[in-house]
Amino acid sequence: MDASLLEQSEKCIECGICVKQCAFLKKYGTPKKIADNWQVHDEASLKMAYACSLCSLCTAVCPVKIDPRQMFLEMRRYAAASGRADFSAQALLMNFEKRGTSRRFSFYGLPVGCDTVLFPGCALAGTRPQRVMQLFDHLQGFFPNLGIVLDCCTKPSHDLGRSAYFHGMFAEMQQYLAGHNIKNILVACPSCYAVFSQYGKRLTVRNVYEILAREFWQSEPQLPAAPVTIQDSCVARFEKSMQDSVRKLIQARGVAFEEMKHHRKKTLCCGEGGGAYFVAPELAGNWAEMRKSEVAGKRIITYCAGCAHFLGKVGPTAHLLDLLFDPAAVLAGRAKVAKSPFTYLNRLLLKWKFKRKIEYGFSRERIFTCEE
Ligand code: SF4
Ligand code: SF4
Ligand code: SF4
Repeated sequence: MDASLLEQSEKCIECGICVKQCAFLKKYGTPKKIADNWQVHDEASLKMAYACSLCSLCTAVCPVKIDPRQMFLEMRRYAAASGRADFSAQALLMNFEKRGTSRRFSFYGLPVGCDTVLFPGCALAGTRPQRVMQLFDHLQGFFPNLGIVLDCCTKPSHDLGRSAYFHGMFAEMQQYLAGHNIKNILVACPSCYAVFSQYGKRLTVRNVYEILAREFWQSEPQLPAAPVTIQDSCVARFEKSMQDSVRKLIQARGVAFEEMKHHRKKTLCCGEGGGAYFVAPELAGNWAEMRKSEVAGKRIITYCAGCAHFLGKVGPTAHLLDLLFDPAAVLAGRAKVAKSPFTYLNRLLLKWKFKRKIEYGFSRERIFTCEE
């Protein structure tokens, strides 16, 4: 915490480049000003960090290469560890995560000889269970003993600063997988990718888009459709090879695309980042407004189920997996996407189907939970 405050305080030259892009910084000031004014015992200081979207755009544009996002995450961790964070506003997010890790919704299915599992993430499984199954079937062609893990990576708790809970839950998941000889984890959600890359040191994490782009997808003739545009997830802003793969897949599917002003490393948050919309909807909503001005009526293709949901308010938005498996439906605006509460029903049905799909050597529903 102190090191992060010190970095902003000593190295930020207050050039204002990050402030120009971000409604949160426009409200609270430069990272140096925030660091210098932050007070351990001040309730407003503790609350303020929860209004940041943790999107890292400030980090991406900073000419002196400091990391304000890390400071806001450390502030959240401090608030949570000292027992002074009030999470009542984020109860919905915490319940979403809790269901994902519960015995009812979780399922680990590991066939005999399995060393690789697909981890689709809870948002994709709820909104697009059919795509998860298609993706699994497709990947099975390359990983014959592929296993499935329906669980949550607990990034919501990570981002809320609930470090003890996050580390306890993640460690137990990793221990189970590594203890059953799982070496590779294939993820479809950029947030899950970020979590497994940073903390899953006993596993090799790969995102499915790189695998699909390298191993499976054949080029198809150009479809007669207007160009789409691409929303890079803010969590994946520094993941160049994931971004390249996404573009390669869209092209290979015969769909032309045009970039928005903010793309790749300088992409904009969709508004979901860091759960900021629960405490500061007007600040988080500003990202969507900025996006709206750049989309210019084009269909948005994204590889994050969270972005697909949030940007639905901005304009027609589809997940890349929808485009890959059913391009005609996406381009005609007919791709089927479930909304809550049906997303929970979908996840139960998906679990039921996976339980019956394969003969597993090991399987479990998760009963472990950490002290809050
Ligand atoms: S919202 Fe994004 S750009 Fe603004 S301070 Fe937070 S991490 Fe940086
Ligand atoms: S871009 Fe970097 S140096 Fe400039 S105000 Fe932001 S944090 Fe400070
Ligand atoms: S990070 Fe992935 S698995 Fe975790 S809550 Fe978000 S979508 Fe679900």
